[in-house]
Amino acid sequence: MKISKVEPIHLRVKALNEPCEWGEDAFILRIYTDTGLVGVGESDSAPAVLKAMFLQADTHSSCLGLSKILIGQDPRYIKKIMEDLLEGSAYYGISGAAICALSAINIALYDLLGKIYGVNVSVILGAKRRDYLKAYATFIPSKDLKENEKKAKELKASGFKLIKFGGASFGSDSKSDKEIIKSIRNAVLDDVKLSIDLVSLWRNYSYAKQRYEEIKEFNIEWIEEPVAATNTQDYARLSDNLDCKITGGESFYTEDEFLNFIKKSKVSIVQPDITRCGGFSSILAIEQMALKYGCDLVPHGFSTRILLAATACFLASSKNYDLIEYSQSTSPLFTDLVSNPMQYSDGYLKLNDGLGIGVELNEEVIKKYRI
Ligand code: MG
Repeated sequence: MKISKVEPIHLRVKALNEPCEWGEDAFILRIYTDTGLVGVGESDSAPAVLKAMFLQADTHSSCLGLSKILIGQDPRYIKKIMEDLLEGSAYYGISGAAICALSAINIALYDLLGKIYGVNVSVILGAKRRDYLKAYATFIPSKDLKENEKKAKELKASGFKLIKFGGASFGSDSKSDKEIIKSIRNAVLDDVKLSIDLVSLWRNYSYAKQRYEEIKEFNIEWIEEPVAATNTQDYARLSDNLDCKITGGESFYTEDEFLNFIKKSKVSIVQPDITRCGGFSSILAIEQMALKYGCDLVPHGFSTRILLAATACFLASSKNYDLIEYSQSTSPLFTDLVSNPMQYSDGYLKLNDGLGIGVELNEEVIKKYRI
């Protein structure tokens, strides 16, 4: 059995000269084999940068194109392939975007492995412990308070017990942030937990502490990425001194980076993104770190339903962690790219029973948005 073709795909809803918010572009990957089976992966990163790594012409043995390394390999030898990829990408890799590209490959290889052996990826990871995952909703708040209130009420009515919001300009203005939080809290009352995502906009410990004091009356469940991800000292001070959970981790790539962050930041919840942290192989290692150092793990996920399905397979296999982020993006790359979406009902997502990660892609959507 051999890998016969690698297809890196850049999708974009908006024109290249228009700004994207979130979910309007994507990097997806298909790995073909000589058996006819095809594996699907994704990375939530800069699509054109990742695509270039696949197409890169060979320079020398530490600087090879990723497609070249993959073609001809037995797709079942995932550990060997990941080692070859790390070695062959060393001159542009080690961390960052290269690990994102490797994450897409790792997910596609596990998808293939499930299809080869006729099982869902959760089985390969150790067990399918559950058929349903607790889901929490994430959305980007609007400047229009009425719109946010309407959204929050709809989410509450559809059964969500936890809602997270952040992104766009949220976090940068004390007054408007407070108004947004207040209006959403008033819309859901005390029936729903609220978390906020600062995307590092709270600068440093003292600024973050002051900003927290202004909103603490609204009973925030967790504060995500209050300061820059690499500022582990301020993370630790916030974790020690705020009576609210501090979370982060979506901006890290390697297992070493996660170990350092988990040990030093004292976060309550670590949030690896399976499409950026090295795929299934690495998120299993990060799960063990979280268990060892006593923090929760809630994967980050705000891209297509390929990411969602891969995350679900991991969480279905996990003994302790079962909360999944469920994006409320209206981008067609979230709503239409996967033609057999997992079904949501009353606070839970139902796992697909399909082979591999269980997704079928809509070719029309790929054709329409392909760069
Ligand atoms: Mg976040």
